[in-house]
Amino acid sequence: MTVLFVSDLHLDATRPAATECFLRFLEGAARNAGTLYILGDLFEVWTGDDAAGTHEISILDALQQYTRAGHRCAFLRGNRDFLVGAGFAARTGVTLLPDESLIEVHGERALLLHGDTLCTDDHSYQRYRRLVHVRALRALYLALSPQVRGRVAAYARGRSLAANASKPPEIMDVNSVAVADAFRRHGVQLLIHGHTHRPAVHTLDLDGKAARRVVLGAWYEQGSVLYWTDKGPELRQISFA
Ligand code: MN
Repeated sequence: MTVLFVSDLHLDATRPAATECFLRFLEGAARNAGTLYILGDLFEVWTGDDAAGTHEISILDALQQYTRAGHRCAFLRGNRDFLVGAGFAARTGVTLLPDESLIEVHGERALLLHGDTLCTDDHSYQRYRRLVHVRALRALYLALSPQVRGRVAAYARGRSLAANASKPPEIMDVNSVAVADAFRRHGVQLLIHGHTHRPAVHTLDLDGKAARRVVLGAWYEQGSVLYWTDKGPELRQISFA
């Protein structure tokens, strides 16, 4: 059975073509898959399960129809939608995965993660990440009204865009030591992630053995899906048109 992976769709009401493409994908190609894995940043921003607007609700409905039709879908949080919680899972029937998850793909053990934790050269981002993952801060944030949460998120997004514009491209990519560490910690030869928006199948030498790091693409100009069949991985693009 084909296993599908997507990430970094960054769905947002201002980019309806991407959302329409994803909804078509859920009704079409994704129906032939064994499992669909969404490895984070499905949404451009997620300020809490109780704050979904009409655009987000259309996506929740589509995911619910997908799982109700008997298809398996699993979601791992990204840096933009790390506040996805139990409400989302109950609403959609999608299984929430831990930030680092081990699965088996066609007989091979694979580590799934969003990918932001591998970008350790981006020190300011890693500081921000540690901050937003403090439980007490998160609880405080979720206690705010959805409107205020939206304003805080927009402010944080503006700061992040301004900061990223001045960062050299290398520091926005994964750090090779962090990658090797992730492979070793989980004892795997296969890693699948997104976040960097640099789709590729990398082969590398890990302690004398061949390892693979598969990177998913973002949904900006077109959709990007990793198909994993019994022949192996294949990155495919789907047109927004
Ligand atoms: Mn990301």
